[in-house]
Amino acid sequence: MLLDKTSPIESKPLRLAFIENPTIGEEEILVRIKACGVCRSNLHMIEGDWLGRGFPAKLPIIPGHEIVGIVDSIGKEVKGIEVGDRVGIQPLYHACGMCEYCLTGRENICKRKLITGQSVDGGYAEYIKAHYQFVYKVPDSLSDAEATPLFCPGVTAYKAVKYSNPAPGKIIAIFGVGGVGQVALQIAKLWGARVVAVSRSKNHLRIASKLGAYSVISPEEEDVVKYFKNINYADSSIVFAPSDKVIDQAVKVVKPGGTIVLAVSGSIKEFFFYEEKTIRAIVIGTRQDMREVLKLAEEGRINIIVEKYRLEDANEVLRKLKYNEIESRAVLQP
Ligand SMILES: [Zn+2]
Ligand SMILES: [Zn+2]
Repeated sequence: MLLDKTSPIESKPLRLAFIENPTIGEEEILVRIKACGVCRSNLHMIEGDWLGRGFPAKLPIIPGHEIVGIVDSIGKEVKGIEVGDRVGIQPLYHACGMCEYCLTGRENICKRKLITGQSVDGGYAEYIKAHYQFVYKVPDSLSDAEATPLFCPGVTAYKAVKYSNPAPGKIIAIFGVGGVGQVALQIAKLWGARVVAVSRSKNHLRIASKLGAYSVISPEEEDVVKYFKNINYADSSIVFAPSDKVIDQAVKVVKPGGTIVLAVSGSIKEFFFYEEKTIRAIVIGTRQDMREVLKLAEEGRINIIVEKYRLEDANEVLRKLKYNEIESRAVLQP
């Protein structure tokens, strides 16, 4: 499904096209795609919201960055990957390997990194090529469709929780419990933390309760800051809801010395040095983060619900996503 020109999803900007398979270099592999997750960031790029950030970096482009498939062929210099292996590809498509970030295991912020489906062709297709050092073996215990969300919401949620310093008994406030927030909730619980879920969506709060949230709060019914004051504040908070007001609350509900993890952009209104709080931002996963998430999932400890669709229905699936008509994570299958 090819994007020729960014435009609103209602105009069906993705076109079913037949193109040659990509030719692989010596360190690359060709993957026959079994499933690709549909992400809100795909929608942003397709509609042109990210032109200012330089995405899409080329046109036409194939979107999609949560990919699971079978290795179809390999280049001469590929090591550790065989034809027939099942592998996944995440948003971090490639990084330079030589800069100060790459050399310290932080290749996700490499200035020369490439993003799958934004800098280069992605997973809304039957085939994709990838560098062998940027693919990951998928545990047998997961189906193709179930495994795809691990490569974006899974790794994002994992990182957010990891940097919120989870520990048994600690209270973590999660603002926004849609897809990514629900995974974060499950992961925080694995560390023994108590999660308070904050969301305006009744449906999301209901799911959060079912997933074992310590408590759930709707800001429309309760004063969020007062609630946390009454339970002696949260040890840390995580923000998945892109709103300055929410970020402000997330800063206020954390006790002095606590951490606020931002998985969104926004402005911070008030911040007091004498409270010694830490604000930490996160963006996509490193290869190490990705391996850690797959390990957790292999042990059956993360459960992400998916809805399957046909690849050629990508325009319609993205339209549904835009109007919040998708209940869980949508996955396209060629
Ligand atoms: Zn994504
Ligand atoms: Zn680099």
